[in-house]
Amino acid sequence: MNWKKQYEEKKALDQLEENNLTRIIRSTLSNDKLHVCFGGGVGAFGRNFTIFYYNGSTIWIDAGCGFPSYNLPGLLRTIPPKELIEAFPPDAIIFTHAHEDHIGALPYIYRFIDEDTPVYASDFTIAIIKKRLRDCKIDLNYFQFIPVTKNSYFKVRDFTINNFFVPHSIPQSFSVGVRIEEINMKIFFSSDFKLQGNEKNFNEKEIQNYGPVKYLFCDSTGILNSGKSTNENKVIENLEQIVQNWPGRIFMTTFASQIERLSEISKIAKKYNRHLGIRGQSIITHLESAFEARVLTESFWNTRRPDPEQKNAVWIISGCQADEGSSFQRFSDGKLYPLKPEKGDLLIYSASVIPSNTDTVFNVLNKLSRIGVKIIGLADYDPKVHTSGHARVEDLKQYISWLCPEKLIPVHGDHMHFMKFYEILENNKEIDINILEDNCIYSLENNVNEIMRIPAIPQMIEEKEIHTEYSLYSYRLNLSVSGICNLIIREDIKKLEQLQYIGTCSQEWLKKCMPELSKQINSLLLKMANTNENSRNRKLKQKISKINLSVLGKNPYVNVVWI
Ligand SMILES: [Zn+2]
Ligand SMILES: [Zn+2]
Repeated sequence: MNWKKQYEEKKALDQLEENNLTRIIRSTLSNDKLHVCFGGGVGAFGRNFTIFYYNGSTIWIDAGCGFPSYNLPGLLRTIPPKELIEAFPPDAIIFTHAHEDHIGALPYIYRFIDEDTPVYASDFTIAIIKKRLRDCKIDLNYFQFIPVTKNSYFKVRDFTINNFFVPHSIPQSFSVGVRIEEINMKIFFSSDFKLQGNEKNFNEKEIQNYGPVKYLFCDSTGILNSGKSTNENKVIENLEQIVQNWPGRIFMTTFASQIERLSEISKIAKKYNRHLGIRGQSIITHLESAFEARVLTESFWNTRRPDPEQKNAVWIISGCQADEGSSFQRFSDGKLYPLKPEKGDLLIYSASVIPSNTDTVFNVLNKLSRIGVKIIGLADYDPKVHTSGHARVEDLKQYISWLCPEKLIPVHGDHMHFMKFYEILENNKEIDINILEDNCIYSLENNVNEIMRIPAIPQMIEEKEIHTEYSLYSYRLNLSVSGICNLIIREDIKKLEQLQYIGTCSQEWLKKCMPELSKQINSLLLKMANTNENSRNRKLKQKISKINLSVLGKNPYVNVVWI
């Protein structure tokens, strides 16, 4: 694969500089103190990556991806900065669960991790990671996978690690306890969790018994929602009623990781003599992994699909965020052959809309609505057909009370979420809240101390390359707003040979402005005839930008060719 080769070349080039930075970082660390550093997950959603370092030993908790945003057009994923990966090679990696924001970086960074490094995770998480590695043609024996099957503990050099299974929106997620006996340090890392759910190894007593802790790293994603989260059983109950009562075809879209819900809907379909069909590879991959990890005992997705016209059918369609090319998006366009949405169909939107996807999801839902498909799941008076995987305010308070932390460090959220802990814990003033940032090394003692800020930015992944060029996106944003202005200039007579605008404004407006643009640019060229060649292009581009803005009202990227 191309990106691997490019990454290795870049690594070789950066080696010298890296070694220096690694040496500087390592020289700031004290062997008798526990250090923590985040490569993401604090201050912005996604790219969860936490490093704990003590006395020459390093553990990583999760190594996830970040996701594109509107101001990074063309970006597929971000992964943690290589400076951190290289300065803190892990003695073991612990993956708390199989969501992409927790495991997604591994295929891109595995070459920087020693072969045979122990990887602790649940059976389901290991099954998903192995599928990802296989997809990227990476040897599955590269890591030493150690399955964590129940609440237990293990040692990684000076670290004693406990795991506590917790309910979340994907099977077999766990929180992590980290202890260093020599310095009497005990911390708890919640990772993603909720309290209502059917995780069979969830045992609140064991979490309570682990407390009190010095530090609690706490999921903050659900902190803007009051009360307790809806139990998944209530969602299943509502889905059953809907399936029982709807006379026509039923389509349901949800997150691929919602294994429990997918399994329950298959049972409900069977109970009401409805034939089940599944469309979408991501859902099948997750179901297969759940089967391999014995989360599911039946491979219900392998049966023959219903006929497309069949009324007593339930179809599960992946791509609930309506990503380009997803089954859900194609379905709304009638391109999920041979399924076509029709008047009288029902769509159960059993998911939440991730804020950055609002436009695309609503676009797809509106297309279906225009065809006459009834949509359930988005109005607040609809029966609840989805519940989040993250603890809401009352759940968070309960969880915090179990662990009685001296200090709390919010994780898995942005700054606004973190600040809400001050409000929800205002009657619990003895808990000291600390808001940390990524790419910064802290020591965790009686207080959190900032040790060093690391000059690093996330690595950015596109189809065939990994890079760290933010400027690429400002170019792209500018191009998308104002297009490009191409000038071909005759060197001998200092005159425009050609002036062309692509994607800048309408053809009518351009036609009106063209004589004035040519006139001003030609007179500029004559004025600049004697400008020093070294600075000529830069000055010319600046002046042409000014002309473009004053005549066209747009500032396209200026590209100059001399002939
Ligand atoms: Zn998660
Ligand atoms: Zn997460």
